[in-house]
Amino acid sequence: MLSVISSEIGVISKKLIDLGVLALRQRNSRGNFKPHVSIRFRNNAGELRTFSIDTTRSPGKQPQPDAYLITHAHSDHHGKSAMLSPRAVCTDKTATALEIRHDRKYVGSMCRLGDEIEIEGVRVKTYPTAHTAGAAAFYWENDVGTRILVTGDVKNASKLPPCDVLITEANYGDPEDPSCHFADDLESMKCALFESGPVAFGAYEFGKAQRAVELMRGFGYEGAIRMEARTRALTRSMLEDAGELAGIDSRGEDEVFVVAPWDLDKLPRNVKKYVLSCRADYPYPIIKISDHLDACGLEDMVRKLTPEVTLVYHPGGHRPSKFSKHLNSIGIDSISIDQIGNVLSNEFI
Ligand SMILES: [Zn+2]
Repeated sequence: MLSVISSEIGVISKKLIDLGVLALRQRNSRGNFKPHVSIRFRNNAGELRTFSIDTTRSPGKQPQPDAYLITHAHSDHHGKSAMLSPRAVCTDKTATALEIRHDRKYVGSMCRLGDEIEIEGVRVKTYPTAHTAGAAAFYWENDVGTRILVTGDVKNASKLPPCDVLITEANYGDPEDPSCHFADDLESMKCALFESGPVAFGAYEFGKAQRAVELMRGFGYEGAIRMEARTRALTRSMLEDAGELAGIDSRGEDEVFVVAPWDLDKLPRNVKKYVLSCRADYPYPIIKISDHLDACGLEDMVRKLTPEVTLVYHPGGHRPSKFSKHLNSIGIDSISIDQIGNVLSNEFI
């Protein structure tokens, strides 16, 4: 089985080690922890493998993991860095989104969402999480049959498979925080869309903007939707049925806009403005539309997937630890990323 790198890891994640899984964090050249986590295990041939999850690329001369798994193209999952490694792995849509967002060429491997990909003797299957277009959970088994699932951010867990080791997020994972409990307010968005006069929805260019377009088309709106050029390019590439998309300054009778929240104030005064978000810190009315599960949704997901241990790895800050403690308090074994030790880079492979 895997050797214990430090006594701290041995104590905290003994259960993971019993399952043939070692979770570890690398430090960067400045001595700080790199974002997120790496998973070391053996493949069916008994060879040690290391998959790094949603983390930045190590410089070329340093030891490399067998794969940089990129769950989706949001910047806090670090695809901008990892996409430059031939060891990067993501879906074709995530690769396209990274290329459009960062104006760089993706040089890793890719597969279609729902397909399998072979990585160094490991069959890795992808599952949709409905967080953004192309967002994928990664699933594989190690030499002793432990089922490992890495979710990234999740909006809908219904397609995810049961697992033994769940590596997941807690963006809204603090059950004590009222802002971590919400439901999508589709009715308010529909009313805002169809009330008379021009209307603008503040939404991030990747993820929320495409969700906004999908929702509006679902409500039956068939007119043009006006967006900045890059948001338009992303939306065209990500959605099969985006309908007519137009430039911000294009002329026409349709005055429905989707722009970044911080660009709402650049639109004319007569445009009614809303932000699609579950955060309350915007100077415009909020319509609660989220790309995430809330605290109850996250707990339901963990119960449904029946893992023996849950590792909460994202986002930064205190939420992973809060969610992990909550899981332990209801009898579900869990650790959070702040409890995981590191290895020196020369021990990485
Ligand atoms: Zn995300």
